[in-house]
Amino acid sequence: MKISFHGAAQDVTGSCHLLDTGRHRILVDCGLFQGSRELHEENSVAFGCDPASIDCVLLTHAHLDHCGRLPLLVKRGFRGQIIATKATCEMARLVMLDAAHLQEEEARRRANGAARRGEKEVEPPLYSIVDALDAIGRFGATAEYGKPVAVKDGLRATFFNAGHILGSASVLIEFEESQGHRSILFSGDIGNPGRPLLLPPETPAAAEIVVMETTYADRMHRPFAASVSELYDAINAALARGGNILIPTFALERAQELLFFFRQGIEENKLPASLPVYLDSPMAISATEIFERHAEAFTPEVQSLFRSGKDPFRIPGLKLTRERAESMSINRTAGGAVIMAGSGMCTGGRILHHLRHNVWRPETSVIFVGYAAVGTLGRRIIDGAKQVKLFGEEIPVRAQVHTIGGFSAHADQAALLAWQEGIGGKRAIFLVHGEVPSMKAFAALLKTPRVEMPQLHQQFEI
Ligand SMILES: [Zn+2]
Repeated sequence: MKISFHGAAQDVTGSCHLLDTGRHRILVDCGLFQGSRELHEENSVAFGCDPASIDCVLLTHAHLDHCGRLPLLVKRGFRGQIIATKATCEMARLVMLDAAHLQEEEARRRANGAARRGEKEVEPPLYSIVDALDAIGRFGATAEYGKPVAVKDGLRATFFNAGHILGSASVLIEFEESQGHRSILFSGDIGNPGRPLLLPPETPAAAEIVVMETTYADRMHRPFAASVSELYDAINAALARGGNILIPTFALERAQELLFFFRQGIEENKLPASLPVYLDSPMAISATEIFERHAEAFTPEVQSLFRSGKDPFRIPGLKLTRERAESMSINRTAGGAVIMAGSGMCTGGRILHHLRHNVWRPETSVIFVGYAAVGTLGRRIIDGAKQVKLFGEEIPVRAQVHTIGGFSAHADQAALLAWQEGIGGKRAIFLVHGEVPSMKAFAALLKTPRVEMPQLHQQFEI
């Protein structure tokens, strides 16, 4: 069989791996390239494999960098089934529709600019909402954790809980060949064990080949409790200064996790009971509703909250702002409010106008609670930029900037090492979804006979 890597190869976004068994061609994930290149060239070039020749897509989870090119895949000829867990199907629907909407808006902006310059050639959106709906129509069988799904004759896939976001999975593909039984395990993104909401990652069954993520493979996260205290301290300090607290938030998982912590902080008198919190993201609001329908995915403590009729994601001061006008009106808030808005890396979305109104004020706090890739506005602010360009205007950064790393949804080096040690039988590990220094540091710790760090579109006979 052959395996080739068409994204997240020596990079952290665009996950897209093709397994060719000789009889079947199975794609695992089809994510968007993000960061400085978001919506640009890299996403629109050829996949490196013919979409029409692919029999099936197995989707590990609903993050944009894992599902964001599925509408494009369908637009370019893919006619097979997409298989994922039920929660992933529900969330990927949100993510793809939101991405298509952004692509259409971006294309409209380009068209307006071109019209003003008198140009006739206009670049169309990468894909439209109709393409996203076509992709959603390709979701077929849903996978349950631990129960093999028959994908094609003789080829089966088993999804294991990856503990990364709601519905996330590692996927084991198995089939018989003339030489015997073959097995290849795709880690997807592996969760950070010990978080309060989701159950920890499972150890998947044995596999001869493992394709594994390495986002944080060169570092250790701070202990969780310390990060939660740091979050409360940063919020209380900004409240004392009379400033707003901006939290660039990924709509899936992180937003819900923060709501959970706010609720806990209020209950333990570590945050004011009336704390105004704006969840300024239609996608995060919809994702929270999906979370509320999947009580089974959570830790026993969270499940018992649900059973006693308490919603772990609701607090008294929560304001859900779906409409754009409501979002704009938040700018009239003098101070003292928590504003959660996307995108998490500040590459677009409503966080930009909140930054414009707040980042120059010394009383403001900007709190980063997630990963920000090199080249993104988020990363520039984290790295201490003295001023940033927003809506064509240079704006000084005078806000307090906090980076709280312990909330990561990704396993750190020790957790990744433990995860792969639990897998029996492995002969080769392919490292993906990491920056090169991270992969190199991790490769040095592995005892597996063969370790590869594939380049984009590189193919291996295995
Ligand atoms: Zn992810």
